[in-house]
Amino acid sequence: MSVLFRNVQVFDADHPDGMAGPTDLLVRGDRIAAIGAALDVPRAVRVIDGRSQLLLPGLINAHFHSPVNHLKGALPSLPLEVFMLSESPALAELAPTPREAYLRTLLAAVEMLRAGVTGVQDDAFFLPHPTPEIIDAVLQAYADCGIRATVALDQPEVAELDKLPFLSDLLPDDMRAELARPPAFGRAALLEAYQYLISRWHGAEGGRLSAAVSVSAPQRVTPDYFHALDELSRRHGIPLYAHMLETKLQRVFGEERLGGRSLVRYCADLRLLSPRMNIIHAVWTDDDDLDLIAGSGAVVAHNPISNLRLGSGVMPFRRLRDRGIPIALGTDEAIADDAVNMWAVAKMAGLIHNLSDPDYERWPSAAEVLDALFRGGARAMLRQDDLGVLAAGRLADLAMIDLDTLPFTPLNDLRRQLVYCENGSSVTLTMVAGRVVYEAGRVTTVDEAGLRAEVRAIAQARGQVRQAAEAETARWLPYYRTMYRTAAARSVGLPRRLDTQEDTARC
Ligand SMILES: [Zn+2]
Repeated sequence: MSVLFRNVQVFDADHPDGMAGPTDLLVRGDRIAAIGAALDVPRAVRVIDGRSQLLLPGLINAHFHSPVNHLKGALPSLPLEVFMLSESPALAELAPTPREAYLRTLLAAVEMLRAGVTGVQDDAFFLPHPTPEIIDAVLQAYADCGIRATVALDQPEVAELDKLPFLSDLLPDDMRAELARPPAFGRAALLEAYQYLISRWHGAEGGRLSAAVSVSAPQRVTPDYFHALDELSRRHGIPLYAHMLETKLQRVFGEERLGGRSLVRYCADLRLLSPRMNIIHAVWTDDDDLDLIAGSGAVVAHNPISNLRLGSGVMPFRRLRDRGIPIALGTDEAIADDAVNMWAVAKMAGLIHNLSDPDYERWPSAAEVLDALFRGGARAMLRQDDLGVLAAGRLADLAMIDLDTLPFTPLNDLRRQLVYCENGSSVTLTMVAGRVVYEAGRVTTVDEAGLRAEVRAIAQARGQVRQAAEAETARWLPYYRTMYRTAAARSVGLPRRLDTQEDTARC
């Protein structure tokens, strides 16, 4: 059915006020058919009164990991390397059933839809490894709830010992031997899993669902596997996700294990930087890294709340913008952001970089933050011709927000009030591919109360397994803590945290 939004304001990044209207916007099928005043009402159309409402491009969560959706608030703030140890200990009992994987995927998808998020890039990891049943469960959840989703298999392929500096020297022999074993589910099995993901799900639901590939991080895979994934990405025109220089320890890793090269330089040397790559975080990048990224056309997924939650540091936003590097925004996983709220991410992106430079004219503007939220997100998904802008011919992924709410009263500056005032509570309707999926306070595709009840019941039943996981974590913790502290004490010449007195020669 067609949908006609009547007398509505339409977000327009190029308009002096940030919006144009009142006007009409007609959706036919999965696309915007027309925008203009007093459009004819076609037959079989649903007319939505848009008075006092604003249509925005749907928000895009450019970086996310669904497998820990059920663990929001579960961990205290910890540095990434200690955090990962606590988050996903290698216990077979932690493997989800397909039903659990389905429900937990829905959990955050519903939260996103309620806040006007229409697209998500899910760098999903699988414990202990991907199977067709769990891949199906994750994708089926996205199929059922109606969000646009791009899903990759974020799976390390080398031994834990090869991914981290110092650990080998710190561990006793028996524990070192445990971490020296590469995952049993190796390159061939992973590529088979990708074959399944792509053949079964890429382009499903009229193109609403798609596959991406993920190396997790360059130091977590072999160059051979990295090249194979890049080839898949090239062949199918799909994004390649790579966490890079999220933490100081990862910068130190380059000094220790890559002959002094940064992870970005390492990828460039492998000829694996490309416009298809999503570089996730890029906090501990120096100017040489940023020049390489800019030259490659890669996009950076910026997750400022996760970077604060894990104490990682502050990405050099202005240095990226100066080079024209496209920036997208993401929550990162629910256990490292907790709220899965892209409005909060946008606000944080609009605030944190004010501390990075005393020159206030170089602080992010609201327009730049919205550009990252909309166009940057579309670019990260490699859908810049379809998403991120409301215009005839584009996909009808949009959020409608009520301007007759406290965040917009009085309306002083739309862009700034979107970034600094709105928290998602003004969203009245979310549409993905022309289908209304959230309206009048409820997600139309999911029994939310039933979902919450079932998730609570499962969490209660799983309590004992979590306790076993904590015991496993405790076994390794002293060594990981020492590794972290050794890296933290190292000067790498980049001021990316408030506590450091690093020299600034290289930044
Ligand atoms: Zn991540």
